[in-house]
Amino acid sequence: MGQRYIERWIDLIFILGIDALDYELVEKLNLNNLKQIEYGKVIVPINEKIGIPSSPEVWASFLIGENILIKFESSSYFINMITKILGIFNIDSDEEFFKKIRGFFVRFGFSSYSRFGYLTRKTFLDITKSKKINTPYYNFDNKTFKLSALFGNNKISLKKAVKEIKLLYESRKKQIFRELDNIGDEDVVFAFMHTADMLQHCSFIRFSEIEQHYIDLDNYVPILKNRLEDSFDEVIFIIVSDHGFDFDKGTHSMRGFYSSNTHLIPKPEKITDFYEIILELVKNANFAGMD
Ligand SMILES: [Zn+2]
Repeated sequence: MGQRYIERWIDLIFILGIDALDYELVEKLNLNNLKQIEYGKVIVPINEKIGIPSSPEVWASFLIGENILIKFESSSYFINMITKILGIFNIDSDEEFFKKIRGFFVRFGFSSYSRFGYLTRKTFLDITKSKKINTPYYNFDNKTFKLSALFGNNKISLKKAVKEIKLLYESRKKQIFRELDNIGDEDVVFAFMHTADMLQHCSFIRFSEIEQHYIDLDNYVPILKNRLEDSFDEVIFIIVSDHGFDFDKGTHSMRGFYSSNTHLIPKPEKITDFYEIILELVKNANFAGMD
């Protein structure tokens, strides 16, 4: 790393992860709160099989600081054990095989709908004193995945799905606020929202609904920042997204998004760059409360 941060007093590094926040749409709607002082596109890993970014893979790479290939991850210890045993014997099971096993476990209540399993490598959240709010691979509550399974299996209508996504979004905003009251000596907070991705995947939804969601997110950012500033003097506020959305094709687009309320050094080009940037910030910051 060429440049180093001059030691500065930082009270908190707050990262808001917004799944599928599309750079082009933020730009088109000119959402300045989401854009902050510095913003841009970031390169993210492209999943070999599907040819587009896969959310679990991108968030894993973001947290670990390296492109990580996520073949199959399950929230069930049992399935992960089977995966590992097969791996030891060099048996390369295909995804369909695991989908079947997963379906079996989900049906009998042994597993959840999670697409985030367990990471075997340390993340920057493990290395720092961190708080995780609905964070992939830690405490993501899977509610959006459950909803998507219900909608995908025609158990609920589009109208109902959209309504539920909006309710989830409102409760997530409240949850993040509540959790801020419980920040102790943590230096890094990562809060995650998955509802933009969900709404965008609901085809046939009116585009104005998606725009409204973006505008609402843009309004939420200053409210969240003000709330943080009540408790902390110096907050580094970073927004990160794992990919955007290609509204013509109805699939993930190829680049992620980021913004920051302070100029980051170095300027991130890849989503994996944040790992070092955050660790460097933590290392050089004289956190309040530290001796
Ligand atoms: Zn995603």
